Formats: sequence, structure tokens, C-alpha cells
Amino acid sequence: MLPDESLREAERLMTVCNSCRYCEGLCAVFPAMEMRRVFAEGDLDHLANLCHSCGACHDDCQFAPPHEFAVNVPLALARVRRDSWERHAWPSALAGLFRRSPVAMAVGLSVAVGAFLLAMAGWNDAGVLFTRQAGPGAFYRLLPHDALAVLFGGAFLYAALALTIAARRFTRSVDAQMPLRADARSIVRGLRDAATLKYLDGGGVGCVDTAEEPADRRRLFHHLAFYGFLLCFAATAVATLYHYLLGREAPYPWYDVPVLLGSLGGAGLIIGPLGLMRGRRQRRAELKDESQSGMDNAFSLLLVLVSVTGLALLLARATALMGVLLAIHLGVVFTLFAMLPYSRFVHGIYRVYALVRHAREMHELG
Ligand code: SF4
Ligand code: SF4
Repeated sequence: MLPDESLREAERLMTVCNSCRYCEGLCAVFPAMEMRRVFAEGDLDHLANLCHSCGACHDDCQFAPPHEFAVNVPLALARVRRDSWERHAWPSALAGLFRRSPVAMAVGLSVAVGAFLLAMAGWNDAGVLFTRQAGPGAFYRLLPHDALAVLFGGAFLYAALALTIAARRFTRSVDAQMPLRADARSIVRGLRDAATLKYLDGGGVGCVDTAEEPADRRRLFHHLAFYGFLLCFAATAVATLYHYLLGREAPYPWYDVPVLLGSLGGAGLIIGPLGLMRGRRQRRAELKDESQSGMDNAFSLLLVLVSVTGLALLLARATALMGVLLAIHLGVVFTLFAMLPYSRFVHGIYRVYALVRHAREMHELG
């Protein structure tokens, strides 16, 4: 007996779809389904994380409500996806943070920003928060670089550890029924399909999840958010190399590589998540899992806040506002690190694995 209601519903639908097979050309889910006769927990986790919620199979389905079979594949798989993130979270005791993301984010932001403000005032005196600082090393006159490196290095390592353990739990579950070892070809293909969001196109016409004409907007906003995140990560990596290899301390001039990468990435991390939030609001009711709205929007908002506070710090770093803005930005980034393993960020990792596995299945068994 499958442990979750979402899994039992998905198993019922996959059994119906496996007899029908009308949608087999739409995306990766249906060919992967056709390779299975029974659907264990790991199989359904795999199928759910292959689904991009484009809505095309719902529009095409002759068994969708009000038909008595009540087939709604996008909604059923969205619920399995959500449950798969919670089931595999590490530590398991924190899995509830997925559904309580808005509260967790608000508490995290308040505590982290407050702690950075207090730490800056305590390290120097409260007046330093409103005193103009300029030139290389200006940030570290408010808080020492080594303390920041330990704090953010620790937060990053925690997030990496929690995500690695969760991913390991997920891959074990997915591989349980049909063990397959990925080869170079399937890895390249899976990464390419993930990087291009290949299956977000509704079978070729575009995403049909809103009442508007099919469009590629959702893919565009996903790309802006994802590549914006990567550019911001690259900016931090280059700044770290500058610090340790070249002995150059932040802040850097506007034309320097970390600032250019961060500004470009920041723009993507504002436009992308805001576009995704708007898309979620417009998503057709029958395709929308309301239980995920808070989690999804909290994560998008956190990404926007990281960018907005980072860009505000860039613009006002030569003014007396720099101290307060730095504390706010550090608090937001720290909250993001802490929340990553319990946010929809995990879907990127699970989806890449599902796509690599799918490429391998198609090559080996297709
Ligand atoms: S979603 Fe509907 S039309 Fe598509 S395969 Fe399943 S049952 Fe058939
Ligand atoms: S990706 Fe689109 S077509 Fe495929 S299962 Fe999900 S909603 Fe249906």
C-alpha cells in the first residue's frame, strides 16, 4: 500500500493513462510511464519530477472531469512532487518547513537581519551603521571578513549537505524498482533537457496552464530565474577568488567582473521570479495545487529580495545607508541558504536526476 494519498491517486491515474496512451508524444512522463506495469513509490516520484506542469495532457484528456475517471495528471503529479520533496528532506523533522515556508521565511528574515544589525552595532558601536564607509574593505569595517566567511561558509555547507542527503534518498527510491547506471550520453542529454526546459512546451504549442493563448512565457521566466541565480553564484565565486588569490577586498568598482555578473544575475532574479509569481496567480484553477502556493511564492519572493537588497547596496554603498543595507542583504542571503533545502529549489536537483534517468531508460529500454 502506497504511503500517501497523492501517490495512490497518481497510481490510479497512471493505470488509466497506461491503457489509453493518447498523450505519449507530449512529454517525457508518458514514455516513462509506458515502461512500467506497476507503479511503486519511487516510480511515481520519478514520473512526478519529470512533469513540468504544462497542462497539455489535461486539455487533451477525454477522461478529465466531469468524466467519472476524473483524470487530472498535472495536479496529481504536482502533489506527488510536493510530497516527494517532504518525504526525502533531511533532517526529516524539518520537512514541515516546505508547507510553512511563508512563516519560516518571515521568522528567518526577522531573526537574521536583526542579528546582523546587532552584530554590527556590537562589533563597533551603533553609530557605525549610519556612518559613510568607502573604499576597499569598507564592508569589513562593519563586520570582520573572517567572521562572515565562517558564518556563510557554514550555512552553505549545511545547505549542500542537506540537499545531498535528500537527493541521495530520492535517487535510491527512484532506482529501487529498476536500477540503472547513468552513462555519459544520458548525463549530457539529461542536463541539456533540464537546461533548455525541453518538456515545458506543451508538446510543441507552448505552456497551456493559463486561460490565455499557449505561450513560452513560463519557460522564459524560469530561465531568467535559473540563469540569474547561476550568475549571482558566479559573482560570489569570482569575488572569493579575488579576495583569497589576489588580495583584493570588496566592494569592487561597478565595471569589475563580480559587480557585472551580480548585476546581470540580479536583474534575472527579479524579473524571473516576479514573472513566475504572476503566472501562478493566472494558472487555471483546475491545474493549481493551492497547498503549494505559499511555498512557491515565498521562495520566489526570497530570490527577489536577495536581488533587490543586493542592487540597493550596490547603488547606495558610498552613502551613510550602507551599513543598514549591508545588514539587510546579509540577513536575506543567510535566510536563503538556510531555506534552500526546504524550498522548491530541490525540484531543480530532482528534475535533473529524473531527466538523466529518463534519457538512460530510453536508450537502454526504449
Ligand atoms: S491524460 Fe487522459 S488522454 Fe492522456 S493518456 Fe491519460 S487518460 Fe489518456
Ligand atoms: S509535462 Fe505537461 S503534458 Fe507532461 S504530464 Fe506534465 S502537464 Fe502533462
